[in-house]
Amino acid sequence: MPRFKTTAEALKVISNKDQIRNFGIIAHVDHGKTTTSDSLLAAAGMLSPSVAGQALALDYMELEQKRQMTIKAANVTLYYEHEGKPYVFNMIDTPGHIDFTGKVTRSLRALDGAVVVVDAVEGVMTQTETVLRQALDERVRPVLYINKIDRLIKELRLTPEKMQTWLSNIINDVNRLIDIYAEPEFKDKFKVSIVNDSVAFGSSKDRWGFTLSMAKARNMGFKDVYEGYNSGNISELVEKFPLHEAILSMVIRHIPPPHVAQKYRIPKIWKGDPNSDVYKAMIECDENGPTVMMVTNVVVDPQAGPVAVGRLFSGTVRDGDLLYLINAKRQERVQSVSMFMGPFREIVGYLPAGNVPALLGLQHATAGETLSSIKDMVPFESIKYVSEPVVTIAVEPKNPRDLPKLIEILQNMHIEDPNLVVTINQETGETLLSGMGVLHLEIATTLIQEQGIEIITSKPLINYRETITTKAGPVMAKSPNKHNKVYIRVEPLDEETINLIITGQINENMDRKQIAKILRDHGWDADEARGVVAIDERGNVFVDQTKGVQFLQESMDSLRAGFIDAMTNGPLAYEYVRGVKVILHHFVPHEDPAHRTYAQLMPAARRAVLGAMLLAKPTLLEPILSIEVKGVADILGPAIGVITSKRGKIINMTQKDIFAVIQGEIPAAETFDLAEVMRGATAGKAVWNTSFKGWAPVPANMLPQLIASIRKRKGLPPEVPKPEEFIDEE
Ligand code: GDP
Repeated sequence: MPRFKTTAEALKVISNKDQIRNFGIIAHVDHGKTTTSDSLLAAAGMLSPSVAGQALALDYMELEQKRQMTIKAANVTLYYEHEGKPYVFNMIDTPGHIDFTGKVTRSLRALDGAVVVVDAVEGVMTQTETVLRQALDERVRPVLYINKIDRLIKELRLTPEKMQTWLSNIINDVNRLIDIYAEPEFKDKFKVSIVNDSVAFGSSKDRWGFTLSMAKARNMGFKDVYEGYNSGNISELVEKFPLHEAILSMVIRHIPPPHVAQKYRIPKIWKGDPNSDVYKAMIECDENGPTVMMVTNVVVDPQAGPVAVGRLFSGTVRDGDLLYLINAKRQERVQSVSMFMGPFREIVGYLPAGNVPALLGLQHATAGETLSSIKDMVPFESIKYVSEPVVTIAVEPKNPRDLPKLIEILQNMHIEDPNLVVTINQETGETLLSGMGVLHLEIATTLIQEQGIEIITSKPLINYRETITTKAGPVMAKSPNKHNKVYIRVEPLDEETINLIITGQINENMDRKQIAKILRDHGWDADEARGVVAIDERGNVFVDQTKGVQFLQESMDSLRAGFIDAMTNGPLAYEYVRGVKVILHHFVPHEDPAHRTYAQLMPAARRAVLGAMLLAKPTLLEPILSIEVKGVADILGPAIGVITSKRGKIINMTQKDIFAVIQGEIPAAETFDLAEVMRGATAGKAVWNTSFKGWAPVPANMLPQLIASIRKRKGLPPEVPKPEEFIDEE
């Protein structure tokens, strides 16, 4: 592994927090985040400068280079001297593709600022808006870099004057978003402007960029850019306007060092006691305080095992430290402390608060975990996921002997990307891989093959959800021995509560009182909120509303298991259930514990839930994807045709000169051949991407056939069961 002389120098600087900056680069896909990061890497001595702009160093996986899309959020520490003073930058690369937005949100926790990269021609796009909004939510301060200025001259043929008007429109667009999404006290502070050097212009591909101060100091500007491109000689731009100087000087000037940023970021991102010592230590970014680190990313090193990367908010982490994994409720030892320098990890032995360590030896740390030297510390808010895995394929090795290796690879992939979910079908033994779209799974299967295993995959299957549309019950089901009676009511659950569950804001590991409080804050009746006895992560709750029933406490585990089983295998097609509030209305147990065992109570509860659901007008939900298509204006008609022919809807269309953007939505079930059809219809001139948007009821005229086909695939009897098959008479 090559060593870089800058590692030692970086470590020396770290002791002075004023000289640390933690930032990331956020952008709409293809706006130039990778090219820009690469240029910064080159300038910071990580690569020879001649390689930058060609090799995409931050995308160190070959696959990512092929796809021009960053899948792994790689962490890089940079070292750079500005006006005679050395600085250390922890730059976290965040994925631009919206399918992986879970990762972007997670990475944002570690950052104090973000360089927002916008393509000069395309301007602010949906993902710019999504990611900027998420950044502002976390009090991450933005600066703006408008990239691809060369295109304004070469493609749009704008004069220097027109260029400036065009660019000021983009700056206004960004400031308008900051105005909408930033909290009141940050609106003005976070706005960007040319005058104070929080906006830079450049071309990452050609490796130049400048801020107003740089332009003044060199007595150069847009006119020189214009002339450079028109004369075909841009060497002066590259020499006088080094891109890294433009970007890193913005970062130094406008993104605060960790101890300054943590003063206002900790109150927003940590919900524990503001009078506690640990809170004070985090506010101060105190390297002598208790150790607190939020894990934002786990990558699996084939040799060294899982590497947990994140932001150290307080304390100093050293080789050999014992840390508590708060959510996993265990204690593990840090084998060694390292830093990511590009694709390479450098062992450093220790790192103080304010940095982004990469820790080896923690076997159970997952992205989102809080690591602490204090046992019972309140963890950071659970990370909000915006997506759910909605497409599944079966994966099997060509050579059956490779199965254990395949399972291991899949498990590692899940650790790195929790949105890739691996399950084994208990009946068929198939290994199933679920992801957030066809593209997500395609990338995953390519990754598997790159690790030396040949695999066979099935056609993608859509994951549906079962839900109900009205209230029903109470209904009663007896246990197999007929000695116990379980009474159940069901109601559709409101979207707000479903969202709290799906995003993990309320979950099984939380204290019941805490859950009750959150639910009350979201409009739940106090009595019902207190009665929550189980939360199913797919968006369902189990609520106890019985009064004075005997033996309830000791029976609850069995009843809960019945609830979970019904939520896992819904009554229509054995799909997962979403959005059902299951209420335990009444319970009549047998006196003798020998007659009210798990084997009696679990099926009684399960049957009562399924029976009630069948009476509550059940239906299937299908995943809907957002789709955005862009290209020259003549793709508009054909692209709209493709979307609408696939049960899609057009939501918005914009046209800027010759560029058009269409936003719409489309059922995931219709996207398997989208690539081919879209390419055909638009002669390959359209670029598009999709992301999970939400669930919608399957159209009524398609429902019976869909249910029948799912049941057939799963080997279930063709007819949906009748409620009477689950419900008993008194
Ligand atoms: P990312 O998806 O945001 O990481 O974008 P990339 O860095 O992969 O860039 C997307 C495409 O834009 C690539 O083909 C780059 O070569 C190209 N690109 C990047 N910067 C510039 C630029 O300054 N000018 C032009 N014309 N193209 C650029």
